[in-house]
Amino acid sequence: MIDTQQRFEGCLLGLACGDAVGGPVEFYRRGRFPPVQGMHGGGKFRLRPGEWTDDTAMALCLGESLVACGGSDPLDQMQRYWRWAETGYHSTRPYAFGLGKTVATALMRFHRSGDPLAGACDPATAGNGSLMRIAPVAMYFFEDRQAALNAAELSSRTTHAADECLAACCYLVAILHAALHGAADKATVLAAADDVPLPPGMERIARKDYLTSPQERIHGRGYVVDCLEAALWCFWHGPDFEQAVLMAANLGDDADTTAAVCGQLAGAFHGVDAIPMAWRNLLFHYDEIRSLVLALRQK
Ligand code: MG
Ligand code: MG
Repeated sequence: MIDTQQRFEGCLLGLACGDAVGGPVEFYRRGRFPPVQGMHGGGKFRLRPGEWTDDTAMALCLGESLVACGGSDPLDQMQRYWRWAETGYHSTRPYAFGLGKTVATALMRFHRSGDPLAGACDPATAGNGSLMRIAPVAMYFFEDRQAALNAAELSSRTTHAADECLAACCYLVAILHAALHGAADKATVLAAADDVPLPPGMERIARKDYLTSPQERIHGRGYVVDCLEAALWCFWHGPDFEQAVLMAANLGDDADTTAAVCGQLAGAFHGVDAIPMAWRNLLFHYDEIRSLVLALRQK
């Protein structure tokens, strides 16, 4: 029996573990690297084993903001992202790294205008940068699904306001919400987002093509629809947390983010005890992440 506390810990620690497992093969094409088999470090950022990237740093900023403000406050969220980008706040290093172009553009726009809803609406900017950090929203608004969906959309608008990004964040939060509430099986978890409206271009998500797609049709890329589909594919086809996250990392490309999105969901569904102990022991800032889980749970 997996209790709610274990699901909460699994969700946020799963995000960070996915980031740390996928990080070393981010930017590498699938099949062009030896298969990832654990939390080994390396890659373009020369990560140390257990070290995570921007995905987790931004999720910590968002989660902390929800707790500190007693709910959604886009201005406070953007101030924390800015502090991260400027000073390495919540980073594993004294500086931010892995900062995506869409996030950087939104932060500059925010800096100039003061408007925290700084995400571009252009579909060409529909990256996965708001999806990767979304777990704390589902956790904070555990008791109120509609509030969770509203907060998911608002949180995306700060950096990613394209229709696909807003919809993907709502869709994943609906699924995470069901997983955190202990939905009995994966099909029930995934059906929990069936009522979330999806814009044109996301029909493959609505149809759940990923249930039967071969791996060749799945892409761990930065485009938010590809990322969401890939993470759901890994969750569905991976028999446990470890296998799901390794499958996500081994898709390559934006591997840290695919694995971070998959890790949120697989962690919420399978619970924290399903995350390999070796990974939890290596994870950077484990105590800080766990404290945030407790704060999100006790809100
Ligand atoms: Mg990253
Ligand atoms: Mg990434």
